[in-house]
Amino acid sequence: MINRDTIVAIATPPGRGGVGIIRVSGPHVGHVAITVLGKLPTPRMALLSHFWDLQGETIDIGLSLFFPGPNSYTGEDVLEFQTHGSPIILDQLLKSVLDCGCRLARPGEFTERAFLNSRLDLTQAEAVADLIDAGSVAAAKSALRSLTGAFAERIEQLLEQLIGIRTHLEASMDFADEALELSSQAQLIRQFATLREHIDLTVQRAQQGVQLKEGARLVIAGQPNAGKSSLLNCLTDSQTAIVTDVAGTTRDILSQPLSLDGLPLHLIDTAGLRESTDPVESEGIRRAWQAIAQADAVLLVIDLTKGEQSEDQKIRSRLPTDVPVITVMNKCDQISPQKNTSTDPYLVYVSALTGEGIDTLRTRLKDLLHYSGEDAVFIARRRHLDALKRAAHHVEKAQQLTQDNAGLELAAEECRQAQLAFDEITGRFTTEDLLGRIFSDFCIGK
Ligand code: GDP
Repeated sequence: MINRDTIVAIATPPGRGGVGIIRVSGPHVGHVAITVLGKLPTPRMALLSHFWDLQGETIDIGLSLFFPGPNSYTGEDVLEFQTHGSPIILDQLLKSVLDCGCRLARPGEFTERAFLNSRLDLTQAEAVADLIDAGSVAAAKSALRSLTGAFAERIEQLLEQLIGIRTHLEASMDFADEALELSSQAQLIRQFATLREHIDLTVQRAQQGVQLKEGARLVIAGQPNAGKSSLLNCLTDSQTAIVTDVAGTTRDILSQPLSLDGLPLHLIDTAGLRESTDPVESEGIRRAWQAIAQADAVLLVIDLTKGEQSEDQKIRSRLPTDVPVITVMNKCDQISPQKNTSTDPYLVYVSALTGEGIDTLRTRLKDLLHYSGEDAVFIARRRHLDALKRAAHHVEKAQQLTQDNAGLELAAEECRQAQLAFDEITGRFTTEDLLGRIFSDFCIGK
């Protein structure tokens, strides 16, 4: 891919700092170097020199680095200037480079060029932005794993398996008049089953990656006065939520960040769920149900001193079936000597007042969210998850068609669709629209 434009941007954040960096990429880099530095620096060697404007006035004295294409970040010639970190100096230098015939880079344009020049695949390019945006050490480590190609490698492995199946299917189609041989059919079905298992595992890891990036949504629900706000305060070790014995105190959604051994969570306290004629409380209850519908997991808090009542059961029956629910029996300090003897992973006895049982709850939560530690996770986005799920769906259909001997062409077409979904993830198959959306989220200069 040949880009005629040479792009330039200030790569360091706005404001004053020790060092400011300006990055230039494209075919005019040589011309820029001669104009600003008087010569082209030796590739990959820092050069200390004057930076001149077009009138020959010194703007600053600093370091510059030249990375000739194609072995550079963008795959093109790249020049980086390190100035003193003054916005005035950076602006002057930027103006000089622009005067050399360059234009300002769009957000993410350097990385977009790296992708278009095949220096990175799309998952790696996205990981660059995720690494910069990472809100926790775990998210940063996972982004780095994706950046070094762990996620792309996994997708390539799935692709290889799929291509093996397609080749097998297409070879069998050459004998289309004959029914698929039984041994061949059995082998294909086995291959499909293995592929589906591997896709499912990847979906699970990607799901954790999405949660690492965005934070898992953990909603605390239950009747008024069960101790939901107290539980939020206890888990986050704060006094964020107002705790009173007046039912209906929490009227809106309250979200607090929480890190569970590096796994970022959004702990969401909701209004007590009960029948209400108060319009403000009713709106709070509507929002509570809305939050529950979007939850990654729900903590159903029940007041142990009262036991599980019919109201609690009514709430339980309305909870979504595809979201894990942990029943939290609260106020265990009131029932003595109550110990958490439950081995049921979905039932925990706690006291939000004394903190008893909270560590067990944390452990259960980690297990429930399948958090296997940052080493196993690669950062992922919702679009990756969507594509993986689509691929899984097509593979399942292809397997069914093969099982029913219902037409090899149809099965082959399903496999082709699955392959397109994988190619969307790595960017082998992509649209301008998608690229625009991905790179516009980047910061300028990256
Ligand atoms: P919410 O309406 O479900 O958010 O409940 P709150 O957190 O506001 O608590 C309601 C009342 O129960 C308050 O008076 C709390 O002090 C009390 N409470 C909450 N958790 C516990 C607990 O573990 N033990 C005891 N003894 N009281 C609690």
